Amino acid sequence: MVRYLRRHLSLKLFLSYLVTIVVGVAVLATTAELAVPSAFERHMAAMSEMVGGMSGMLELDFFQSFRNAVTEALVVAGSAAFVAALILSVFVSRRVVLPVQEMQAASRRIATGHYEERVGVPGGRDLEDLDELGQLALSFNQMAAQLQQIEAMRRDLIGNVAHELRTPLTSIKGYMEGLIDGVLPPDTATFQQVYGEADRLQRLVRDLQELSRVEAGAFDLDRRPVSVSRLVGVAVDRLARQFEEKGVGLETDVAPDLPAVVVDEDRIGQVFLNLMGNALQYTPPGGSVRVAARLDAGRVRVIVADTGIGIPAEHLPHVFERFYRVDKSRSRVGGGSGIGLTIARHLVRAHGGEIRAGSAGPGRGSAFTFTLPIA
Ligand code: ADP
Repeated sequence: MVRYLRRHLSLKLFLSYLVTIVVGVAVLATTAELAVPSAFERHMAAMSEMVGGMSGMLELDFFQSFRNAVTEALVVAGSAAFVAALILSVFVSRRVVLPVQEMQAASRRIATGHYEERVGVPGGRDLEDLDELGQLALSFNQMAAQLQQIEAMRRDLIGNVAHELRTPLTSIKGYMEGLIDGVLPPDTATFQQVYGEADRLQRLVRDLQELSRVEAGAFDLDRRPVSVSRLVGVAVDRLARQFEEKGVGLETDVAPDLPAVVVDEDRIGQVFLNLMGNALQYTPPGGSVRVAARLDAGRVRVIVADTGIGIPAEHLPHVFERFYRVDKSRSRVGGGSGIGLTIARHLVRAHGGEIRAGSAGPGRGSAFTFTLPIA
């Protein structure tokens, strides 16, 4: 019984009302018991003076009847209070216990993977009017929506990774079959192709590792003041040969009086390499890439602009999403896994900056802009 009581909020509510009533009635009864005899005697004495004496026997009878009337009134009042408690506890239980039970059932269903589960919010839609229970239900629904989104992302991620792995693996298998059957010549060109696919797999795995690290925020930033011209210079040194080989011009324009930025040099170096590498990849020979840095509203703004293939407006909002590629086949041939920009955005945001993509349209070049904090 105690266990049953412990596990039912509605019963507890009802019992708490009952205890209040019992205490109330007890207090009333005791007070009446103590006050009634003296009050009765006082009133009888006053009455006797007016109408003459009353026999002792009659007075006792009178007193007994009066006491019974008081007791009867208390019993009636007590019963009415009991019924009121019963009705009230049913009403309050409905308002409190039902939503709690609903949330409990919903949380169980969510735990078994039904992330679409939501509960009704008691108290209506207006946030201002919600009591604690309504706010709890609202938070519960927000939590469920978040879980649903994370689950969708997880599913997407697995699908994407499987898809990304499938293409190079299928190629490697195809080359090997060709070699085994003697359809492909066992020469350097064939081995180069196999090597290229294996290299792509390796890059993909490395990018995925990096992505999971930055998404989990599991990296420390070693922030120090660095000059922007040094950051640009390092990236230019790394990529100059590739630009030359492809016949794409590379121009830098860093304002001379720029203050040092306070960043993790390696991480931001990675962002420069990624943006400049993309610019090179998506700019045909004869085009050019320009890296510029300016002071803008207490931050350094870096722009990597190219005269390349550009990005259609409808794709612009998505280029920072995981595995997003504007032209799936072209980008994949170029070795892109579609997560470079996702990592770049995480790194820039970790430094408190923002990164944006812009383009005047297909064939009219793209410009990526990001901000870095100064001392
Ligand atoms: P990827 O490794 O495929 O280049 P990113 O995350 O770096 O992946 O870029 C995502 C997509 O954004 C690319 O596949 C490409 O379609 C587009 N993109 C990125 N940079 C440029 C650019 N400079 N010019 C045109 N398109 C670009």
